[in-house]
Amino acid sequence: MNIVVLIKQVPDMDKVKFDSEKGTIDRKSAGTEINPFDLNALETAIQIKEKTDGKVTVLSMGPPSAEDALREAIARGADEGFLISDKYFGGADTKATSHTLAAGIKKIGDFHLIIAGEKTVDGDTGQVGAETAGYLNIPHVSYVSRIEEVGLENLQVVSEISSGSYLKEMRLPGLITVTKNINTPRLPAFKRKMMARKAEIKKLTLEDLQEFLSVEEVGLKGSPTWVNKIEIPSVSTREGKIFRDDIMKATDTLVELFKEIKVVEV
Ligand SMILES: Cc1cc2nc3c(=O)[nH]c(=O)nc-3n(C[C@H](O)[C@H](O)[C@H](O)COP(=O)(O)OP(=O)(O)OC[C@H]3O[C@@H](n4cnc5c(N)ncnc54)[C@H](O)[C@@H]3O)c2cc1C
Repeated sequence: MNIVVLIKQVPDMDKVKFDSEKGTIDRKSAGTEINPFDLNALETAIQIKEKTDGKVTVLSMGPPSAEDALREAIARGADEGFLISDKYFGGADTKATSHTLAAGIKKIGDFHLIIAGEKTVDGDTGQVGAETAGYLNIPHVSYVSRIEEVGLENLQVVSEISSGSYLKEMRLPGLITVTKNINTPRLPAFKRKMMARKAEIKKLTLEDLQEFLSVEEVGLKGSPTWVNKIEIPSVSTREGKIFRDDIMKATDTLVELFKEIKVVEV
């Protein structure tokens, strides 16, 4: 089975800084990593490949630095990597991103299954998987937490939606998005790390995809969604006071507090 895994390179969200004046993410303030959910997508693909013949191709749309994410994916078990990168693709919303990824998948050709993460940790819309399936005109199942049966023409999966579990069967070619509960991603082996360093990452530009896409359909031009403002929510931490010996002081303080927040009226 030939599987394409969609990989997005994201900033390390624990370290990244936000510019509250401009309302933007300062992407240079932190390192990058593979979107954690995409590691689950990759692991799912590798496990399916181990049971069937075929190959795992990783695909990303992003700046040239996204090549690192694809190399890491190869180190973790993918067979080949494609990077869609061009100045025209900058500023893409989920529609333009999905349209472009679908064009890349058409260009790669010959696939049975596409696997994406359920969402990213930076954009967090969870739209790209389903939209990509839409542009490819193939079925999709979201929030997959278990693969039950794999065949070249059908896939049976468990999908978790709104606290319910659904057993679904989908004809292939199709697309699934996976949750983090589906597996524990493996770590890259040293030998594969060395191999990934030298692996060729194939580049796709707008010119390469022009049979499927026009310049009006990509990047900012192809994006009907505009971000007006991003607000960074203030982080409120819990405050506490400890009274060790002075019980009377503790009760007085509590009574004053209850009066203040009108829990008791005296
Ligand atoms: C007006 C506007 C301008 C924007 N400008 C920029 C910008 O300049 N730079 C920028 O980095 N972001 C920008 N974004 C954010 C960008 O649109 C989203 O990051 C992108 O569309 C993916 O959406 P998401 O992160 O919510 O993915 P989700 O839908 O949450 O992702 C689901 C899954 O889809 C796959 N996936 C998502 N994105 C990619 C990708 N790029 N390559 C491969 N697989 C992918 C992954 O498997 C992922 O787990 C902009 C958004 C808007 C609305």
